[in-house]
Amino acid sequence: MRQKRAKAYRKLMSLYCMSFGFRQPYQVLVDSEMCKSSITQKLELSKQLETVLQGTVKPMITQCCIHELYLQGKEQQPAVDLAKTFERRKCNHREAIPGDECLASVVGETNKHRYVIATQSHDLRVKLRTVPAVPLVHINRSVMILEPPSKATLEAKESAEEQVLHPSAPEIATLPSTSTPAEAPKRKMKGPKGPNPLSVKKKKPKVDPSAPNKAANESEQGHAGAKRTRGEDADGNVDGGEEPSSQGAGRKRKRRKKMGDNEPDHEPRGDTP
Ligand SMILES: [Zn+2]
Repeated sequence: MRQKRAKAYRKLMSLYCMSFGFRQPYQVLVDSEMCKSSITQKLELSKQLETVLQGTVKPMITQCCIHELYLQGKEQQPAVDLAKTFERRKCNHREAIPGDECLASVVGETNKHRYVIATQSHDLRVKLRTVPAVPLVHINRSVMILEPPSKATLEAKESAEEQVLHPSAPEIATLPSTSTPAEAPKRKMKGPKGPNPLSVKKKKPKVDPSAPNKAANESEQGHAGAKRTRGEDADGNVDGGEEPSSQGAGRKRKRRKKMGDNEPDHEPRGDTP
């Protein structure tokens, strides 16, 4: 097996193991055509399976599938002999049904027993691609092939991962208080508590409580008084000098005048190149 394909198969089997709980020895359900192919093409089926799945395998055959071989008479005796070496999987079909149908029913809708299916039936493989987590093996021109993961498999894998990352509300409730330990390991504060003194404004000098508010009141009143008188003065001047009707207009005109005064300063600069 080429290096590249071996790597891809190893990766794929680890996906089945990690995401869907597959374990070695892998249980491989082999169909009757696969038995016949491996005889006619002189493949060592078990060995090939171990190479492709990259692990130990337990080949199995259902009652219906081995029955199919019996029906084909003496010609298929080597295939029957091969199948007899495999573990028999009870499928509980009282009357044998076609191998494809038997394997499909054994896999079911979820492949809960985690079978690898080795089948030469194209139709069965197409059907089983719709079931998540069914590794599919077939022989193509005497080369055993493990199919890439089906769309259903990849989607199931992604949704499983999604669930792990974002558990639903009822699941969170059942979790054994994983949320509290996150809070528990609080970072220990080193040094004095409180904000970084360098990032805090300096406090105003404390007033002595025994001399209650006198100084503070005085200073505040002083400031306020100064402001008020200054404001009154300014207003008074404006009102007195200009039209008493609108202060804003007076101020504006004053400003404009100032700008006008400034203009001559700018003009010479403009003239000089
Ligand atoms: Zn069956």
